Amino acid sequence: MEYNTVKKRVSRNTIRMIYLYPSLYEAMVASLSSHIIYYMINEKFEDVYLERTYLSSKQGPYYSLETKTTLRNFEFIVTSLHYELDIANLVWMLHSSGIDPRNRFRSQPIIAGGPAVMSNPHPYSKIIDVAVIGEAEVTLPAIVEKWVENRFDKKRFLEEVSSLEYVYVPSIDEPDEKIYRRYVEDLDSAFYPIKQFRSVNVEHPFGEGFMVETSRGCRYWCRFCMESRLFKPYRSRSFGKLREIIDQGLLTNNLNKVIIYSLSFPSSNVEKLIVRFIAEHGYSVSIPSIRLEYVEDDFLDLIKKAGQKSLTIAPEHLCPTIQRLIAKYMDLDLVLNSIYRIIDHGFDVKMYLMYGFKNESLDDIRVMLDSIRKIASRAREKGAKVKISLNLLIPKPHTVFQWIGMIDLVRAREILRYIKRELPGYVDTKLYEINYAWVQSAISLSDQSISDVLIQWGLEGGGLGSWRRVLKKTGFSTKYVFEGYRFGEKLPWSNIALNEDLEKILLAEYEVWRRIIRC
Ligand code: SF4
Repeated sequence: MEYNTVKKRVSRNTIRMIYLYPSLYEAMVASLSSHIIYYMINEKFEDVYLERTYLSSKQGPYYSLETKTTLRNFEFIVTSLHYELDIANLVWMLHSSGIDPRNRFRSQPIIAGGPAVMSNPHPYSKIIDVAVIGEAEVTLPAIVEKWVENRFDKKRFLEEVSSLEYVYVPSIDEPDEKIYRRYVEDLDSAFYPIKQFRSVNVEHPFGEGFMVETSRGCRYWCRFCMESRLFKPYRSRSFGKLREIIDQGLLTNNLNKVIIYSLSFPSSNVEKLIVRFIAEHGYSVSIPSIRLEYVEDDFLDLIKKAGQKSLTIAPEHLCPTIQRLIAKYMDLDLVLNSIYRIIDHGFDVKMYLMYGFKNESLDDIRVMLDSIRKIASRAREKGAKVKISLNLLIPKPHTVFQWIGMIDLVRAREILRYIKRELPGYVDTKLYEINYAWVQSAISLSDQSISDVLIQWGLEGGGLGSWRRVLKKTGFSTKYVFEGYRFGEKLPWSNIALNEDLEKILLAEYEVWRRIIRC
């Protein structure tokens, strides 16, 4: 059973659309953009019924959650690719529902957004029909409107939407046609999903609560971080608006926990005030990863009062040399003291760390491991748990790593073996599979030529075995992942205009790296 499912009467005039989420139900529930899209389109368009489907363990065909209608009976498909790997699920879900995953053989248009598409839509050019480069609130309604005006005429619809400056239509636009990102300028006046769907059988990854996006974007420019570049500039909701959203949301959904969404938290006084508001009203809170410079006693007390037991931090590396290189530098003593303070306040700690920079030495890794040992022993002393999520750097478009590339997989495995050997056994460590990091980079850094590979890969059901088989069969090489693109060479995603300062910033970042690794 699900709460807050949108119910509409279906008649001959109803425009049947589906939101296809190419991952599991719990991921869809945790994705705030899924809620925004679902409720916004159903509210704005009386004659449109947007239903949902998601990846389940069933073999297919896929049905809508709302009316159990098969996927192939919908005239219009909206999807979001949060991770590059989800493309295999999308292809599989279409195919197993009797829909051709190749765009030119299909009558239904597929409208795709989300970080993977926004950063570089070209890898998906033979699968999706419309790539949306922007935030849903200010892009999707106009696209849906165009379909309402041109129903069942896919060709005409595509011609019409291709005139929108934030839309890329692979079958019409040249790959170098400039596409301009569109974003919400004032979050307070943007649509917000006060009702949020949730299932009684599937728990939200952050516990049963109401999701509140306090801010969007990030003030910082960490050099590896594509996400922040896709959602610049930093925008915050006002305190008054957040109070209103929280009051209405908790009441409407009959909940007493607030799950805060923010890329970098807290980045303003408003975000600190809202935690105070939540704690003082007796609600519980779940906060995203916390910036270490904001680890102050009174703030930790408030979070504790609001029931949070574990805090997530993302220093990314614990060696100052690497921290400087990735522009996420904080004095190591300050980092350690902030983490000790978190532990001393009785929190468990979850830490996101990264390795695999081309100039990273084993000494740099040793410095990181020494710090982990210190943190772990402090936690042990205080009876707290430490979890580490350790990820190989995945070079992404619009970051300096587009020119630097990824370390080779043999070296990555060596480093990982070394880290595993040296880490204290009582530290709970989650390691991201190196081969999936390779696949993710191969997709995100590619041009259109990977599209056929992705279709075949999806038809085989995804996974590493079939990835290797398809690469072998097609002769597709992923050497660009490890070599990076040549500086000055045209990049596949250079038609995607994200931010007017980005080019200057990237050039400056590249100069720094060039001096360091002499590439
Ligand atoms: S890693 Fe975090 S702090 Fe750094 S730019 Fe990305 S979102 Fe912002």
